[in-house]
Amino acid sequence: MAAIIAQSFAYRAPRSQDELVDILASEESVRLLAGGTDLFVEMRNGLTRPNLVVDLKRVEGFGEISWDPGTGLRIGPGVTINQLIADPAVAEHYPLLASCGHDLASHQIRNRATVIGNIVNASPCADMAPGLLCSQASAVIRSARGERIVPLSEFFTGVKRTVLERDEVLAHVQVPAQTADARGGYRKHKRIKGHDLGIVGVAVWKKDGDLRLGISSAAPKPLVIDGLSEDSAVDEVVATVAAAISPIDDVRCTADYRAHMVSVFTARLLQEVA
Ligand SMILES: Cc1cc2nc3c(=O)[nH]c(=O)nc-3n(C[C@H](O)[C@H](O)[C@H](O)COP(=O)(O)OP(=O)(O)OC[C@H]3O[C@@H](n4cnc5c(N)ncnc54)[C@H](O)[C@@H]3O)c2cc1C
Repeated sequence: MAAIIAQSFAYRAPRSQDELVDILASEESVRLLAGGTDLFVEMRNGLTRPNLVVDLKRVEGFGEISWDPGTGLRIGPGVTINQLIADPAVAEHYPLLASCGHDLASHQIRNRATVIGNIVNASPCADMAPGLLCSQASAVIRSARGERIVPLSEFFTGVKRTVLERDEVLAHVQVPAQTADARGGYRKHKRIKGHDLGIVGVAVWKKDGDLRLGISSAAPKPLVIDGLSEDSAVDEVVATVAAAISPIDDVRCTADYRAHMVSVFTARLLQEVA
């Protein structure tokens, strides 16, 4: 068993976004805290040793999730997975996102874990990524230097890597209204029936003749495969997905098994949402 590393750090809980970005601009060794379900595991294992931990949960407005028929769904950094699942607008307009959330960890973890923490952690197996990628979500990023908006398809740069700079916070995720009310589904394969990280995850999204797939655990970063037609033959889509992924062998399974399960889930989901 890995040794538990005790470490001391300062803690701050800013109330406004301006206060937050000023702290980020002035501190070198700083980590942001949302639910802590990834961060505290890393700290306990000594993988990160920040001098300062900055809690996002008290920043005004960060705990909000809201829907607007013109601009779509806005998800703040404090919004937990269970909050997303319980949101009536998500259930009505983005059931695929709720489905991805249901597959993330256990009920207890989902009470702490945030949607944005899952995205920033950038694990290849992040359960929220496939649905958000299919829904063409964007990351609205803030720092003392200003604001920039990055499509989620360009946000992940590798295993646990993103475009975020040290002094930046992901201030909210915006999911456009145009991708609402689609048909779709998410399938995650695990080693056990209880909660576990995914061996593979596949999301299918269909609307107005367009077809997209979001894939987790089958490449160094979560993938989206778009530009497909709703009328495409199942075999053709399965072949396109197989060419896009680059699975590896690891403690959970072999690359071959991953590739096989991606094909199986892709075909099943396409038949289910046909
Ligand atoms: C037992 C267990 C089971 C799990 N099972 C799953 C699973 O099945 N599927 C899955 O996908 N994940 C799983 N996870 C991982 C984890 O729960 C999720 O990734 C979760 O969504 C992370 O959210 P958080 O709010 O806890 O993030 P935190 O741990 O608070 O933060 C994660 C990272 O993001 C940074 N960060 C957070 N918010 C921001 C922001 N707004 N701007 C910039 N940086 C930010 C933090 O500094 C940190 O680096 C599991 C974890 C545990 C402990």
